[in-house]
Amino acid sequence: MAKPQRMPVLLASHYRSGTPVQVAWEGGRITDVRSRTAAVPGAWIAPALLDIQVNGYAGFDFSRPEDVGRVAAALAAHGVARFCPTVITGTAAAMQGVLAAIHGALTADPALEAAVPGVHVEGPYISELDGPRGAHPRAQVRDPEWAHFEGLRRASGGRVRIVTLAPERPGALAFIARASAAGLLVCIGHSAADADAVHAAVAAGARLSTHLGNGLAATIDRHHNPLWPQLAAPGLSASFIADGHHLPADALTAMMAAKGPTRCVLVSDAVRQAGLPPGRYPGVGGGDVDVLASGRIQLAGTPYLAGSGAHLAHCVAHAARVGAACLSDALDMAALHPARLLGLPPPLLAPGAPADLLVYRSGAAGELEVLATVRGGDVIFGELPV
Ligand SMILES: [Zn+2]
Repeated sequence: MAKPQRMPVLLASHYRSGTPVQVAWEGGRITDVRSRTAAVPGAWIAPALLDIQVNGYAGFDFSRPEDVGRVAAALAAHGVARFCPTVITGTAAAMQGVLAAIHGALTADPALEAAVPGVHVEGPYISELDGPRGAHPRAQVRDPEWAHFEGLRRASGGRVRIVTLAPERPGALAFIARASAAGLLVCIGHSAADADAVHAAVAAGARLSTHLGNGLAATIDRHHNPLWPQLAAPGLSASFIADGHHLPADALTAMMAAKGPTRCVLVSDAVRQAGLPPGRYPGVGGGDVDVLASGRIQLAGTPYLAGSGAHLAHCVAHAARVGAACLSDALDMAALHPARLLGLPPPLLAPGAPADLLVYRSGAAGELEVLATVRGGDVIFGELPV
């Protein structure tokens, strides 16, 4: 992790109002925000990004404790101050092994622990059907069972905070109710649920659709499919992989419009090979994957996506570039709204809020050029502009 610095005052343009502000902080919290007549030219300030779905980055994943900090450092360079390591379907032993590795890494390093508000368990209680199941291994997909889940939670040291499941599986509704009562964020994903199952899941406590529009059959009925009820349900927010490869721009724009800006969350769903130079790399399931110059990651020699190669700041920029959201709303979808769903203190640019800050300028092709990332008052990447 980067060495913490103390540099408590910043002059930059506010990401929402566009006006110059001076932001001061101390002890990990913002103490003062006031208007000024001028800011550092080109510098903008926004809440630091929070990515609630990360499988790995820069050649590392979470299977070894020593790599958790490497992922955190690589993400910090892209404005992500906090993230939820995501563990996908596997045998109970395999999932527990990864969860224990994450727990061990966080327990050993308080700075790293501050970067991880919780762990996201995606599966194994998902659809076994080809299409909705995505790249999750069929053999390990199963019905939700609290005792099985407790085994995962124990291995994580109680750090599981998000669970993604398919509500059509037997036992899912009781599981959703129990997990919600336990304070978990329960999400619908990798699901072939019909409207009744979606609405029952929401009534039981589900609050988010995981990467809506992906983890879905390639061909669906035009009226009766898992998308419409999830788009229509007022109690459901939705996360989207706005990397430019997982969803066509029109689909992203239409789905985000249906949910409205405050119910949208942007996630990267980045995989281990994300952020690596173009080339062929070993995949997670045994086969190779190709990282293309565009950042797209696909199964070697095929056009099929093998996960996301993007970081969250790119997804924010992409959503704004294609007109699915204005930039300030897209930034909130990658910080404020996921924080609210997790019950974290809202990362507002206001006194009392956490000093989790993203300082950026507008880069080539609308990308965010990160100047500094601040977490809990500490500069964890870059330098504050003066
Ligand atoms: Zn997924």
